[in-house]
Amino acid sequence: MKQDYQRLISDCAAPWDGEILEELTAYIKIPNKSPHYDANWEQNGYMGQAMAQIAAWCKRQAVKDMQLTVHRLPGRTPLLLLDIPGNTAETVLLYGHIDKQPEMRGWDADKGPWKPLVQDHKLYGRGGADDGYAVFAAVTAIANLQKHGLAHARCVVLIEASEESGSHDLPAYLDLLADQLGNPQLVVCLDSGCGTYDTLWSTTSLRGVMSGDLHVKIQKEGIHSGRGSGVIPSWFSVLSEILDRVSDRQSGEVTVAACQTTIPPAVLGQIDEAAAVLHDHFVEEFPLLPGVQPVNSDRRQLLINQGWKPMLTVTGIDGIPPLRDAGNVTLPEVSLKLSVRIPPNCDGEKAMQGFRNALLENPPFGVKVSVENFEYGSGWQAPALAPWLRAANDTASLAAFGKKAAYMGEGASIPFMAMLGRKFPQAQFLITGVLGPKSNAHGPNEFLHLPMAKKLTAAVAIVLNEHARR
Ligand SMILES: [Zn+2]
Repeated sequence: MKQDYQRLISDCAAPWDGEILEELTAYIKIPNKSPHYDANWEQNGYMGQAMAQIAAWCKRQAVKDMQLTVHRLPGRTPLLLLDIPGNTAETVLLYGHIDKQPEMRGWDADKGPWKPLVQDHKLYGRGGADDGYAVFAAVTAIANLQKHGLAHARCVVLIEASEESGSHDLPAYLDLLADQLGNPQLVVCLDSGCGTYDTLWSTTSLRGVMSGDLHVKIQKEGIHSGRGSGVIPSWFSVLSEILDRVSDRQSGEVTVAACQTTIPPAVLGQIDEAAAVLHDHFVEEFPLLPGVQPVNSDRRQLLINQGWKPMLTVTGIDGIPPLRDAGNVTLPEVSLKLSVRIPPNCDGEKAMQGFRNALLENPPFGVKVSVENFEYGSGWQAPALAPWLRAANDTASLAAFGKKAAYMGEGASIPFMAMLGRKFPQAQFLITGVLGPKSNAHGPNEFLHLPMAKKLTAAVAIVLNEHARR
């Protein structure tokens, strides 16, 4: 029998204009940066403050027999666990995080990371969308299912505080709580992206990432370029040659064999569908200057590049003077920070070895090339979507958005997804979120798209109900 969800949907939306908006407004003001960006996070106390605020709100919600615990392992960021009994013996794990990215420059004059502002149905400020909204969405969805007498499985809501630092505290808590977490049949992750704000999006894969420093040393000291040029190898030519060996100059694709994989045919089908749904919005989302083209004119190829291809970005450089200090001098040594996204189905360890070797072998002119600080995190590919979840996603998306659910690979990496995937190999995954066009998590002017948060909350509630009713 088809369930009528209209009253549930409007009840899931209402608090986002009232109580939740007030809570998130207060929450954005707290600079609870992730430990990587605030070495004194514990003494500063912001993380504790944010956790206390969220726990207090959860306690006030009308959720039957909810057990709320804030776990604090010594020296680790806190973790909130809500254990909510359900109508079936199965368990659903819902995930979010409260730690935030640092400020970043470039905010509009009327906005700021710790200065919440609602404009045009968007709540601006750091950490509202990534990922403060998640606990509010999860608990509101469950509370409203109960209010309307709609079934849900036992729900365990897990909110951690080290995600933006690579979730380094999460494994210890997953071990500590292994018995209580049990073996979830469904994992709902509320920390991902959406291609548009008008349908339910589920992330089916995440790229991995590796990064490290590349050093090139050529001379003992810099000399007059009038003497040196034409005799001494140029650092720019040497670095260009080394980077050309590992990547395609036009697209940035990493050409090292260990970083390349075959894209599964089912994924190519999903990419075709996503390319049709996204249309030109996909390219418009990027803040390119007028007249600047993306690396490929075919948006299907851009989706393949973003979700499934190994790609190189140079993110930092040392050894080069700023223009005002640059005389006519050859530069003795230069270092680059390299950041490489690797395909979801790529072995991170092998990719890193292959990539490092390719950088180091046969240095041009015998210059001294070395690498340092290389690390990697493997990507992740969701298990094949069970027919019941595909149907539940469509039911939820049609009811809350009026459109069928859509699927896409995420170009960025979420380290804990690989972790959860390994821990719960039998589970199905709904990986979704509010990080859509221009929402700019990690950058300036991050916003939470409030209409999306409302509809997503309802969609999550409906998927939970369809899961319990299947
Ligand atoms: Zn996040």
